[in-house]
Amino acid sequence: MSDKNVMVFIEYNNGKIADVSLELICEAKKLASKLGSAVTAVAIGDKIATSLPLLGYHGCSKVFLYEDKRLANFTSVPYAKIVVETIKKYNPYIVLFGATTNGRDVAPRVASELKCGLTADCTDLQIGEHDIKDKVYKDILLQIRPAFGGNIIATIVSPESIPSMATVREGVMKISPPNMELTIEIVKEEHQLSADDFMSEVLEIVRKERSVNLKGAAIVVSAGMGAADEDSFALVKELAKTVGGVVGASRPFVDSGRLERDHQVGQTGTTVRPNLYIACGISGQIQHRAGMAESKRIIAINSDPNAPIFGIAHYGIVGDIKEIIPRMIKAYKNKL
Ligand SMILES: Cc1cc2nc3c(=O)[nH]c(=O)nc-3n(C[C@H](O)[C@H](O)[C@H](O)COP(=O)(O)OP(=O)(O)OC[C@H]3O[C@@H](n4cnc5c(N)ncnc54)[C@H](O)[C@@H]3O)c2cc1C
Repeated sequence: MSDKNVMVFIEYNNGKIADVSLELICEAKKLASKLGSAVTAVAIGDKIATSLPLLGYHGCSKVFLYEDKRLANFTSVPYAKIVVETIKKYNPYIVLFGATTNGRDVAPRVASELKCGLTADCTDLQIGEHDIKDKVYKDILLQIRPAFGGNIIATIVSPESIPSMATVREGVMKISPPNMELTIEIVKEEHQLSADDFMSEVLEIVRKERSVNLKGAAIVVSAGMGAADEDSFALVKELAKTVGGVVGASRPFVDSGRLERDHQVGQTGTTVRPNLYIACGISGQIQHRAGMAESKRIIAINSDPNAPIFGIAHYGIVGDIKEIIPRMIKAYKNKL
């Protein structure tokens, strides 16, 4: 087995391991199997040991555990210092963070301390080679993400600064089914923090519930600027209700103020993979497609036959929303 291990920074949500961390463990497993190495993790908190076997079921073979009641809630400096300590001690080849509020806080601090490259918001990670002039770097992390406003997909490499580090948005990578027979080695660590490192204290956490659970929905019916008028939007909502789906939207639709940001699908919104995605009046620009292209079935309704959304739709309907959606609702109700 090679020593090019892939390490994941574990996050918690309401005392449970965050989905994004499980997604990253599963992605790390794929990368590690290409490198012939193992997946490790760093978990920081208080009384979290019992949660850790779950990481093992998803393919993590070893977790470095730091427990301290002062670490119960995320705070930037202690968490970043612990991740740095762990990387220095165990020399992972790749380190992955969620592109969450906490991941985006801690990852740049770690990268800056270790003078490593860090690519934010990757949408794909691969192991491959890269040649610059006469030098060929093998088995390096290819960090793939949209760049220049999504107009190109860039592959970013940092072959000379190990570890390679990347953040990945929630929902971009898939969680594979757990294997309950897998076990994990839990390595209890002592941190080297001083009282001065605990310079801030979390007094209260106020959670705002999401207005919609786009990620968990089996059916998403999304409104774009082609459904911007009141009647069309009402039809989109009615269609969603009829088929038992939730309402998503393109970014300009959300920007127009009719829905909260939680409804936005895409590169800077939520990544969804529902069984059915119905795009109503959405042109299908790359930034939108980045958040829904992996839906199992895509139906697109658009009056422009050349709209890019038709390039990825399984079923395309060319026509006006006001005409098509009532017919879909009627047909669906007649079938029940
Ligand atoms: C850095 C960056 C990040 C971005 N992130 C996101 C993101 O996360 N999510 C996102 O969605 N966008 C994002 N965008 C914006 C993206 O580039 C597009 O501008 C946006 O997706 C277009 O939204 P739309 O399809 O609703 O509107 P438009 O592009 O205006 O398309 C409207 C569509 O409706 C059709 N239409 C009009 N009238 C009707 C009708 N009566 N019946 C049927 N069809 C009709 C039109 O033919 C057209 O295709 C981002 C952009 C940048 C630069």
